[in-house]
Amino acid sequence: MAQPLAREVAEEVAKLNGVCVRPVALRRLDLVTGKDEIIDVPCGATLESKCPSCAKRNRQLRMAQCREGWHLTEEPIVTPDAATEEQRWLVEFRADMQARRDAAERAGEETHDWDAVLEGLDEEINEAGMRGTVVGRTAPKRVRSTRRRQDAPDLPKRKMASTTLGRTFEAGDGKVYRPSLFVTLTLPSYGKVRDGVPVDPETYDYRRAARDALHFSKLVDRFVQNLRRVAGYDVQYFATVEPQKRLAPHLHMAIRGTLPRSEVKQIAAATYHQVWWPQADEVRFEGEHLPVWEEEAGYLDPDTGEVLPTWEQALDHLDAEPLHMIRFGDQVDVKGVLAGTPDADQSIRYLSKYLTKSLGEGLDNSAQRHHTARFVEALRYEPCSPTCPNWLRYGVQPKGAKPGMAPGRCRSKAHKPEHLGYAGRRVLVSRKWSNKTLAEHKQDRRTWVLEALGQTDEPTDQHRYVWRPVKPGDPDLAPVGMRLLRSVAERQRWRAHLRELEARASGQDLSATEHEGRAA
Ligand SMILES: [Zn+2]
Ligand SMILES: [Zn+2]
Repeated sequence: MAQPLAREVAEEVAKLNGVCVRPVALRRLDLVTGKDEIIDVPCGATLESKCPSCAKRNRQLRMAQCREGWHLTEEPIVTPDAATEEQRWLVEFRADMQARRDAAERAGEETHDWDAVLEGLDEEINEAGMRGTVVGRTAPKRVRSTRRRQDAPDLPKRKMASTTLGRTFEAGDGKVYRPSLFVTLTLPSYGKVRDGVPVDPETYDYRRAARDALHFSKLVDRFVQNLRRVAGYDVQYFATVEPQKRLAPHLHMAIRGTLPRSEVKQIAAATYHQVWWPQADEVRFEGEHLPVWEEEAGYLDPDTGEVLPTWEQALDHLDAEPLHMIRFGDQVDVKGVLAGTPDADQSIRYLSKYLTKSLGEGLDNSAQRHHTARFVEALRYEPCSPTCPNWLRYGVQPKGAKPGMAPGRCRSKAHKPEHLGYAGRRVLVSRKWSNKTLAEHKQDRRTWVLEALGQTDEPTDQHRYVWRPVKPGDPDLAPVGMRLLRSVAERQRWRAHLRELEARASGQDLSATEHEGRAA
């Protein structure tokens, strides 16, 4: 251990053992014992492969969450809780991390790692049961004129019952069945595809594909609204957004309760979303010919010196047609699932199969890489949001315009090859799904492991510890490779102990093995 190993080797070993490869070091002062030490906190990467170990653990957690909520038999109780210590701690910690990130940026350092940490923290903050982001929404939502309000599609509307549970059915023998749905929704065709690659890339509609991906989450919201209206109860769902081979996002959704399949198909067919944004088809500025920034005035036309319309002004003068209209494709798959059947388990595995992969991952041949490159190129100049610098290309000042903006250089993740237009959450869970937050599901698992180890899971006294970030160059901070190996050793110790206990208990209590996958 005295000889520091190459970081890569340590990382490989850590991955094999399911140990976090990007731990965040924190100083912890124990107010009871006075001990002040450095503790590695798992990065908590929720998705993709930044840290496969944390991503995998989160996937398992999501599967548990999906399983517990799907066939709930009692109405969930949802009451907003007061901010807990954990939440407050997370918010304070996030503020520290933000300060360090900004300091790094000022010093001209690479901030990628800090950004990743912040992103992870934001997710964690949300998962700790808080809504929205710490930065928060400041501007009130704009009220659009009624002329442009989206019409409710032509669908049956049932009276709302105040329940989140679906109907149950009693069989002749008195057994009660609790049916639910597993729905898969895809986007329409943009041109013929073979093996995930367009047969004719020249005619493949990349622009439509790009815009559909950018606005996919809005379409999903509409679908849920319509579903609830038709179903007549407060439908709950657990959904994941996953990539198709042709690079379009698609949706798997576990729905509590049931509707006739034909109705679900009807809802999907009737659901649409219109994007009421300024035009983005006619290029006004590009290359070296770009709007210029003037303090107090904003962006000006480089030829005439005229101030370009602001975002708000542009919204007041929209065309009669929306910029974009998005719908689902014809392929709607609706499957009935019964509680507690192997079918239900299989659906959950299927639902979470690709969660640890990014949308743009898994390209194995040059045709696919070429397809990705074209898709990324189509996304490059598409405005991803009202604040996207790409609006300058179409003669509009982005919302919150500031100096240094240039079309094609938006840093939002929607434009990145890993995200391919979809920058939203990969897991969408309705509020009254499992009656538990992700933090509570996490706690369940911890409690189980501790019980198996024969320890009581006493709530730690939140006031016992004072946590602080570790200052760069802290002499107590071991090289990361060494820290990883220490965590591996600890993990192996505890696994061996767990195995020993299991071996001793085998034959007496087989119920524990059911949880094995979750503990590992
Ligand atoms: Zn990690
Ligand atoms: Zn953008």
